[in-house]
Amino acid sequence: MSNSKPEASARASAPRATALQGTSEPEYALWEPLDVDVAGAFSGISADDLAYRDRAREFVQTEVRPVIAGIWDRAEYPLHFAKRLGELDLLRDGIDLPGFPHQSLLAASLTMMELARGDGSVATIAGVQGGLALRSIAYCGSEEQRDRWLEPLARGTEIGAFALTEPTHGSDSVSLETRAESRDGGYVLTGHKKWIGSGSVGQVSVVWARGDDGQVQGFLVPQNAPGYRATTIEGKVSLRAIWQAHIELDGVRLDADAKMPGANSFKDTARVLQATRLGVAWSALGHALGVYETAVHYAKQRVQFGRPLAASQIVQARLSEMLSQLTSLQTLLMQLTRAEDAGELSGPGASLGKYTATRTARAMAANARDLLGGNGILTENRVARHFADIEALHTYEGTETVQALIIGREITGMSAFA
Ligand SMILES: Cc1cc2nc3c(=O)[nH]c(=O)nc-3n(C[C@H](O)[C@H](O)[C@H](O)COP(=O)(O)OP(=O)(O)OC[C@H]3O[C@@H](n4cnc5c(N)ncnc54)[C@H](O)[C@@H]3O)c2cc1C
Repeated sequence: MSNSKPEASARASAPRATALQGTSEPEYALWEPLDVDVAGAFSGISADDLAYRDRAREFVQTEVRPVIAGIWDRAEYPLHFAKRLGELDLLRDGIDLPGFPHQSLLAASLTMMELARGDGSVATIAGVQGGLALRSIAYCGSEEQRDRWLEPLARGTEIGAFALTEPTHGSDSVSLETRAESRDGGYVLTGHKKWIGSGSVGQVSVVWARGDDGQVQGFLVPQNAPGYRATTIEGKVSLRAIWQAHIELDGVRLDADAKMPGANSFKDTARVLQATRLGVAWSALGHALGVYETAVHYAKQRVQFGRPLAASQIVQARLSEMLSQLTSLQTLLMQLTRAEDAGELSGPGASLGKYTATRTARAMAANARDLLGGNGILTENRVARHFADIEALHTYEGTETVQALIIGREITGMSAFA
């Protein structure tokens, strides 16, 4: 018997290795911000604007970064982040309000970039709150509505939602079917809304509904109003750390003063959406930056075939491609934002920004995800969240195709929507 297992005996008598090669993997440091700006696109930015950027970055690095992977995995809504964003004055999306310092469009854009660089859900919380809900009330609300809501929304002490999309009307939200009937000196709202960020966790929803005159009108609906039933949408693979809701409006009764006097047709809705389109593009730039710096850090630290990935020609070519995409995006968005600031940005111009930014960030995220190999699908390694989250940005506030149709109409003078 003893002669039948010579190899086993030899192994047993061999000296024991102290540690097996290949059993432990180093911890990768993937979060160090890389301030790449090859074209000098960000040069000359004022100290006031940079202060917003730096505050957003500091918040991400110290408060978001240590906990976000777990929050995202568990699909929790970090309401405390919304409150903190308000305390840090990072929720206003460039809307000036009494009692707050001036916040430029560029400051708001840089803020969105930094938040998304940290996490897409956190940026979306700010986008829904400031970009959509607060902006709707600022543009279309009465003086009383503005007095009641703008400050608490800006400070994050109350949470707002923007309810436009319906289960059967997404890209064609202009055809929405939710009704607002005039009755007894007020209104009765009936219909369904889908994908409404913060629609089940807040205090007020800006609801877009069709009035008796057939036009789209805007209403401020308390989320605890009888007949307002919000169900959080579960099972998302993207933006898991913000909740969207399916809302049923079952004969919600509102007083006359719930209607926003400046929201009388879909043109008013579109004005809000156009103003936020570039904000989504800046968020996409934040994702692009996040995946780029993750890829660079990982390529330098990960060793295969006895050398860092970064020492391989193919990996360097891939990083170069990403840097080229990133630089183009930085340059384009800075230029479009300057045009918007000067009141010279057209609707199709804003669409071009969103179209280019989400497409570019999506391609970069796929490249970086692959560069991290198996580690690229673990949420703890950062790039996986960006890879998943950019999908939602590609779709919301007008899909890639809808932006292309807006741009195409501008180029050709022909509408191809229907
Ligand atoms: C994470 C997330 C958050 C969101 N948050 C909000 C929110 O807070 N408030 C809100 O009101 N909405 C919100 N939305 C809704 C979002 O704006 C819509 O999902 C988006 O407008 C697309 O609508 P849809 O999903 O119904 O897709 P559809 O309109 O059904 O489109 C499906 C596909 O068809 C394409 N398509 C559509 N029309 C045409 C056409 N004419 N020609 C060619 N192709 C076409 C689209 O590009 C897309 O690829 C959110 C969505 C998501 C995913």
